[in-house]
Amino acid sequence: MKKIIIIGGGVAGLSAGIHARQAGFDCTIHEKHSIPGGHCTGWTRKGYHIDGCIHWLTGTKKGTELYKVWENVDALNNETEIIQFEEFGRYELCGEKITLWKDLNRLKSDLIRLSPEDEAAVTEFINDVKIAQTMDVPAKKPVDMLSLKELTQLGKSMKSAGELMNKAGKITCEEYAKRFKHPAIRKLFRSCMSEGYSIAAFIFSLGIFSSGNGAVPRGGSLAMAKRMKERFKAVGGKLVTNSPVAEIAVEGDIAAGIRLADGTFEAADYVIAACDARVTFDELLKGRYKDKKFEIRYNNPVDYALPSSVLVAFGVSGDLKDYPNISSFETEPYRVGVTDCTIASFKNYAYEPDFSPEGCTVIISNIAQTDKDYFYWEKLYRNREEYRKEKIRVATELQTRIEEHFPELKGNLTLLDVATPVTYHRYTGAYHGAWMSFMMTANAKNMMHKGKIKGLKNCMLTGQWLEPPGGLPVAVVTGKFTIQRICKKEKLEYIF
Ligand SMILES: Cc1cc2nc3c(=O)[nH]c(=O)nc-3n(C[C@H](O)[C@H](O)[C@H](O)COP(=O)(O)OP(=O)(O)OC[C@H]3O[C@@H](n4cnc5c(N)ncnc54)[C@H](O)[C@@H]3O)c2cc1C
Repeated sequence: MKKIIIIGGGVAGLSAGIHARQAGFDCTIHEKHSIPGGHCTGWTRKGYHIDGCIHWLTGTKKGTELYKVWENVDALNNETEIIQFEEFGRYELCGEKITLWKDLNRLKSDLIRLSPEDEAAVTEFINDVKIAQTMDVPAKKPVDMLSLKELTQLGKSMKSAGELMNKAGKITCEEYAKRFKHPAIRKLFRSCMSEGYSIAAFIFSLGIFSSGNGAVPRGGSLAMAKRMKERFKAVGGKLVTNSPVAEIAVEGDIAAGIRLADGTFEAADYVIAACDARVTFDELLKGRYKDKKFEIRYNNPVDYALPSSVLVAFGVSGDLKDYPNISSFETEPYRVGVTDCTIASFKNYAYEPDFSPEGCTVIISNIAQTDKDYFYWEKLYRNREEYRKEKIRVATELQTRIEEHFPELKGNLTLLDVATPVTYHRYTGAYHGAWMSFMMTANAKNMMHKGKIKGLKNCMLTGQWLEPPGGLPVAVVTGKFTIQRICKKEKLEYIF
């Protein structure tokens, strides 16, 4: 039985591990952290559970190709309750309240009622979101393994979504907003995504959400990662935690195994790097192999900015079940990293009563950050006391704004935790703390990477970096695709 070693037990690593076992390989995952899951995680503070990841998971709709992959790795199963939200979020802008309803007809009529003169632009927007609803993440096989017939079918099924991507992918949110006359609607489109994203990112997000294919599994991210871990073990995989890999051992441009941080060598027929791509090229392969596609992107952090965040979690004494899923509102500017924020936003976890003591609720803000903010936090982290103080300052500024906007919450918020881009980097090794792939900006060319490392055999990359926009679907699907490619090379029949 040939052996595969996987570096990293995030969603991509676990997915690759499960599929590897199902294909008949001996498989060991080495994970540097004490638990698997990578970014897909959660933790406890002061009796509250902080969900560190899933806002919504693409592929929750039964019958889709992606659902089948989630089901196979047991991230989702028949017992997993899927929580659907009525609204994507509520925005309070320019004195108006705008709810992004899952029901697109309701959203359309609300927007037209607010601004009849924007009817044509609103109608085009809603029509585009409806096209985006038809998008099913291709998850059966990697494109490079599709037959001509399958490719033609895929092309046909994705035709409208592809045309929409071509049309909207080159328009920034800022430009798109100018199509609308009403100041609140303009502001909505300017603030719907982090600065830099093209409007396509928003249209497709809303499309997937409103189609019912983007929801949240009960128990959240940690519970989902645990189910995947159990599935990996159940199919006979070996998971070694607290096991940082220091090097991919190479003999004559063929991966021969890995070397752990304690110097131990472990041989393998294939090595899959399911960890950060930069870590793989620079540290694990000691810079001996380069990848042009990644280099272009690393060298242009404007067009290929990397999304991260400052996460601030509060416990609230009080049940927020009547508050929206996500609340966003304008505030006095406050600085986070090197970014001036004028919108405050939080996700309300009232739908997960087990996350809080009785009668209480967790709320979490994810304040958008990019590479330039990472440098700020990284420098600050060198002085732990200053770093700690700055985290508290940001949390206090945010708390003040939330309490001003929702005066009934005043005195009821307890700070639970603050994570920065440096936290994400420390725990997962992610370059610049990025927890998605390169941003879909208007100037970006989407990278579809096969995971091959030029000049090196039997070693491949997998995970969030390989396809836009990253995230959990890309992680789980690329994990599967990597094993399918290995099966092809080994001439193993592996159709899943
Ligand atoms: C706040 C937040 C919100 C998010 N919201 C969503 C959402 O709503 N929907 C969505 O789809 N996605 C979301 N994401 C993104 C999603 O979590 C990630 O894109 C996805 O989990 C990446 O999975 P991965 O396996 O590719 O990489 P990772 O999760 O980064 O896994 C890599 C693993 O490799 C390990 N590792 C690194 N170096 C080594 C080494 N040398 N040796 C051994 N192990 C190593 C790491 O510890 C880690 O466990 C969110 C992420 C965050 C942080």
